[in-house]
Amino acid sequence: MSMDHAAFSRAPLAIVLTAVMLATTLLSTALFHRSLVQNQEDTINRQVRQLADYVRVDLLDGVGNQIRSQQRMAARLVYHGLEEASSWQREVTLFKQHHNYYLAMGVLWPDLSTRWISQDGDAKASLEWLTASIDQYRAALRDASVTGALVVSRPVVLPNGRFTLTFYHPIGIGDAHQGFLLATFSVPDAVDSMISDMFRDELKLRVRARGEIIYPHPQPISFEHYDWQAGFSIDLDGDGEAFDFEFGLSEDARLQYASALPQVALIGGIALSLLLATITFLAINAARHAKVLASSNQRLEEEVRERELAEQEMEFLVTHDPLTGLPNRTGSTRYLERILADSRNKPGQMALVFFDLDQFKDINDSLGHQLGDQLLCQIPKRLAGVLNDRDFIGRHGGDEFLIAVHRPTREDIEQLAVNILRSLDRGFAIDDNRFFVSASLGIAYYPESGETVSDLIQNADTALFKAKNAGRNQFAVFTREMFSQAQHRLHLSRDIRHALDADQFKVVYQPIVNLNDLSMAGVEALLRWQHEKGYLVPPQEFIRVAEETGVIDRLGQFVLERSLSDLAQWKQLTPTPPALAVNVSGSQVRQDHFAEDLSLLLHKYRIDPGLVHIEITEEILIENLMRNRRLLKKLNDIGMRIVVDDFGVGYSSLAYLKNFPISVVKIDRSFVKDLACDREDQAITRTICSLAEDLGMQTVAEGVEKQEQLALLRGFRCQFAQGFLFSQPLPAEQIAELLAGQLPWQKLIDEKN
Ligand code: C2E
Ligand code: MG
Ligand code: MG
Repeated sequence: MSMDHAAFSRAPLAIVLTAVMLATTLLSTALFHRSLVQNQEDTINRQVRQLADYVRVDLLDGVGNQIRSQQRMAARLVYHGLEEASSWQREVTLFKQHHNYYLAMGVLWPDLSTRWISQDGDAKASLEWLTASIDQYRAALRDASVTGALVVSRPVVLPNGRFTLTFYHPIGIGDAHQGFLLATFSVPDAVDSMISDMFRDELKLRVRARGEIIYPHPQPISFEHYDWQAGFSIDLDGDGEAFDFEFGLSEDARLQYASALPQVALIGGIALSLLLATITFLAINAARHAKVLASSNQRLEEEVRERELAEQEMEFLVTHDPLTGLPNRTGSTRYLERILADSRNKPGQMALVFFDLDQFKDINDSLGHQLGDQLLCQIPKRLAGVLNDRDFIGRHGGDEFLIAVHRPTREDIEQLAVNILRSLDRGFAIDDNRFFVSASLGIAYYPESGETVSDLIQNADTALFKAKNAGRNQFAVFTREMFSQAQHRLHLSRDIRHALDADQFKVVYQPIVNLNDLSMAGVEALLRWQHEKGYLVPPQEFIRVAEETGVIDRLGQFVLERSLSDLAQWKQLTPTPPALAVNVSGSQVRQDHFAEDLSLLLHKYRIDPGLVHIEITEEILIENLMRNRRLLKKLNDIGMRIVVDDFGVGYSSLAYLKNFPISVVKIDRSFVKDLACDREDQAITRTICSLAEDLGMQTVAEGVEKQEQLALLRGFRCQFAQGFLFSQPLPAEQIAELLAGQLPWQKLIDEKN
């Protein structure tokens, strides 16, 4: 904007400079033209003067000759006398005829009376007219009769319009004086005759005598203001009254002498001035435009540079993770595409390693996101210790990292995976605290386990899943079988959703028996899937997949809702309804509002929280102790009781669990199964029972099928049991029937005892 304004304000400068240039060149042209004209004028003037000089000589010669001829005639009369000289008269007449500008020639007596006159009419008329005015010359003629000087008359216009002069030559002087020879001539004709033709064509001539213009006569109008360039005076009779001759160049001669140069110079000069002015204007404008263009070009370049930088920044932001500075999912995909293309013709093995921290969510949830972020930032540094410069690390999202490596053999890559896992062993120091985390790795080889980046990532993820399931802190290599398992999982999860919508899920209840009186102390809600094809899908086949694929949340909600509503029904049948044990998966436990949602349900079905037992497997419980402790405390505070399911397989010690609000320990079926014959199982079971008792917890044995098991459990002071010995899991209506009538197992067991 400011640049445009500056350019605009400079526009008058161009006009001023152009005007100065134009004025200067025009002035120079004018001066040059003037000097040329002057020069030409000078040349012409010189020419005129020279011509005038020639004319002067001509005239002087002509007039001199005439005068001398007339003097000779006068002298001859002195000797011969006019009467005898008829030959003289003839001669004079001839002379007059020869010089046709003479109007009259004659002889006067000393008293100025006419003695003789040349014989023609014109002459007579002239002479009469002249003699009438002769008195004015009488004094001059008297002097001339003594001195012999020539007397020239005043210019006289004759009645016929002719301008004439008359010469009076004394014939003899002093005593010999006999009169005067008189010659009257037409001035214009005389001048015309005396000037050579050449000069007449070239010159304009004006003659004045005693102030009167006597040649040409009449004077043309064009002569009135004519610039006469040269002249001279001739005083014929020496009386001080001269004839002034003035000369100018005729138009034709002027044209002839004048060259076209000044005109050409003028036109050329003006044209040149205009050209120069135009060039100046254009040049200044061009310079201005060039400057404006240069500056706008510069601005444009700056803008382009800024834009490029911004685009690079944008590109960086789009392709990089702000936390770790590593390429993000988008960036990784781009890099990996390039890496794959590069590795295509390289020898050796190329693999994509999917890296995932074990239980990072729990760290995040229990220790805060800030600490989680700090831990994530340390991971790439730690990995850099075992990777080389050519390896690629990108952050796929959350606690997942993608690593692309190229090594000579698969063994090298698998060794690298081990090294990566080991590199985490020494833990991480954050804010004076030390944390220990492990990771699981999934490896997909290129191109066998995927030819595209997305296939490789997906398959490495499948392998990672396998590593997680196999117990974490290990790596797994993608295989074709994994692919079919993954496919199966995918289909199954889709089927589960469909089954939920189609109401194919049922809840059955397995009675939990009080070993003191064989009463039904509670029931465990167990999920059943009545497949549309008729068969029953056991929970082991779908619970895991449901957990892995996230459908478990809907399933869990369904079981809670259904079992609580069933319990509400039973409550109406008996004042002492059985406690309801519900299995809760790890994914449900991780839900932020699990406790709140559950208490809403309790409220909805008006269920006393003390009737509800939440079963969490030992495995899930110890997965994230901190977080689970908070949740369990919340549930306990509401009044629900917590059951550790499948206890014994997770190798956690009961002493450790005393820190949790746990009311019941459910001894895993695997210890009960061979209890009758396996002394080790007996020892474990006994220990669990007595320790639990010491810690104020109750014990439930699951999978009790035989009397022997029951007897042993009673011996170990185990308080509750469930199993086929008492009852299969039953539909809600059958539980209602049991509540109303006799418990079938009581009779059976009593009979056996
Ligand atoms: P669990 O919680 O340990 O459940 C007890 C399992 O033992 C049940 O298997 C039950 O049918 C079986 N069982 C009971 N008595 C005997 C016996 O005497 N001998 C033998 N061999 N087995 C007996 P089920 O119903 O197939 O359930 C398997 C597992 O699936 C459950 O183990 C539980 O972990 C899970 N599960 C079942 N229903 C649900 C549910 O609604 N939610 C969640 N999260 N998990 C569930
Ligand atoms: Mg259970
Ligand atoms: Mg169990």
